[in-house]
Amino acid sequence: MNITGESLIGASCIKGGGADFFAFDPAAGKDLEPAFHTAGKAEIDCACELARIAFDPYRATAPETRARFLESIAHNIIGLGDQLIERAMQESGLPRARLEGERGRTVGQLKLFAEVLREGSWQDARIDPAMPERQPLPRVDLRLRMIALGPVAVFGASNFPLAFSVAGGDTAAALAAGCPVVVKAHPAHPGTSELVGRAVQQAVAAAGLPEGVFSLLTGTGNQLGAELVRHAAIQAVGFTGSRQGGLALMAVAAARPQPIPVYAEMSSINPVFLLPQALAEKAEALAAGFVDSLLLGVGQFCTNPGLALALAGPDLERFTATAAEQLAQRHAGTMLSAGIQRAYEQGVGRLASNPHARQLSHGIAGDAGKAGGGVPALFAASAEDFLADPQLSEEVFGPASLLIACKDVAQMREVAEHLEGQLTATLQMNDGDHATARELLPVLERKVGRILANGFPTGVEVSYSMVHGGPFPATSDSRSTSVGTAAIQRFLRPVSYQNLPQALLPAAVQDGNPLAIWQRINGQLKK
Ligand code: NAP
Repeated sequence: MNITGESLIGASCIKGGGADFFAFDPAAGKDLEPAFHTAGKAEIDCACELARIAFDPYRATAPETRARFLESIAHNIIGLGDQLIERAMQESGLPRARLEGERGRTVGQLKLFAEVLREGSWQDARIDPAMPERQPLPRVDLRLRMIALGPVAVFGASNFPLAFSVAGGDTAAALAAGCPVVVKAHPAHPGTSELVGRAVQQAVAAAGLPEGVFSLLTGTGNQLGAELVRHAAIQAVGFTGSRQGGLALMAVAAARPQPIPVYAEMSSINPVFLLPQALAEKAEALAAGFVDSLLLGVGQFCTNPGLALALAGPDLERFTATAAEQLAQRHAGTMLSAGIQRAYEQGVGRLASNPHARQLSHGIAGDAGKAGGGVPALFAASAEDFLADPQLSEEVFGPASLLIACKDVAQMREVAEHLEGQLTATLQMNDGDHATARELLPVLERKVGRILANGFPTGVEVSYSMVHGGPFPATSDSRSTSVGTAAIQRFLRPVSYQNLPQALLPAAVQDGNPLAIWQRINGQLKK
């Protein structure tokens, strides 16, 4: 398949009127052909208008139709074959095995949402039948179901060029819900985005759906994203990226004549609590697991463990010595983009010059001639300094972490209380640590979206019970998740139908249950 640098607007491929730019190969340190043409206002308007026109017919399609459509996207992505993997490798510097795994996850999550559609409980169908004889007043007939929110703008993430990009989690959830999607491609992987975009475009045509169900806007510069979010047809935003970018788009959405929800996943340092008994039992093994998790994917995971906490003492010293030694033997890895590399180096530089942080170790620097090369780095600080110095809580996106020594469990809890919202918190513990864990859990529940025991936070399962979210700044809306089947709820809203004749009711809440889904009738779930 040819990569042309065009935007995919409904069924058309259009050369954007804005500035040209090139993808960049961070491993080779060079631009990649062809030129990409930034979408301008005309293309944004066209994509959003088509999405608006597509919305009613698309949301009216049977869940089975949308399930097959999602499966067809998955099929087409696999059909792109090695071209997709090779282009993604070039544009991201990520290795083949990682990208093949990510493709599997992308396809898997599309198929999982197809299952969700068929199962039907996402519609949350409720029926409170009329009680005409009720005293002192009769009860009306009330029925509720969830409907799609409207066209959704999706901003692909730089660190997941497949699973959290054009046909990634946000797009799959929105399309499943019945929302047309307009994707703003991430400028770090425009070719990968175009290939996947064409796979989706072909699936739309094959399913006979309205062309505006999907568009892909290619481009760079904040104006494109801001104009997209400002467009009156857009009714919700899914975003993964920097805190700065997420906040900027939240401000744009809030300033619209009709403000809209923004589901932005932004910044998280994912604390790992090394509880005393577990640390005493296996400090060295925990240190090895911690370094592996920290360096996975050159630290470019939103769930990267950027903070570890333990009680000061000989067990923490054993952990620190092993972690520092292991990290010192690890090489720098290619980072996703020159911008991310720059931001990482600045973050490490800030820690290195912070009088409250002490550098314990750093990895082996790579080829200075290449753009990529995040050198692993490990720092330490006292809990007192961490509590007093806000800079120590800032995310450094990449393979850097900070170890915090606490004087007792009360101080560990104080640090937990002090943390901003996080995607995850991890408890490394054994049976003897349960009392400490019990003290921390109420705080952690308030602070994070996912609490893990005896693992490391990198690695996010796509399933029914996953929450990949959390209070600000982990996300802009802690009530939802961006990974897993519950993500569909972000793009739905409830509508109640009072005394509507059967003939006019949607199938989900009709008597006789024609869709054979779970209905909550008078409060009881029935099928
Ligand atoms: P980013 O700079 O926030 O960009 C994400 C997307 O939003 C891009 O499409 C970008 O395109 C657009 N954008 C950014 N700022 C915008 C603005 N003010 N108005 C409108 N659109 C805007 O994120 P990134 O390039 O992926 O990575 C940069 C940093 O994000 C990293 O160093 C890291 O700190 C953080 N990050 C965090 C996570 C996480 O999951 N927590 C994941 C990836 C990255 P344009 O620049 O073309 O406008």
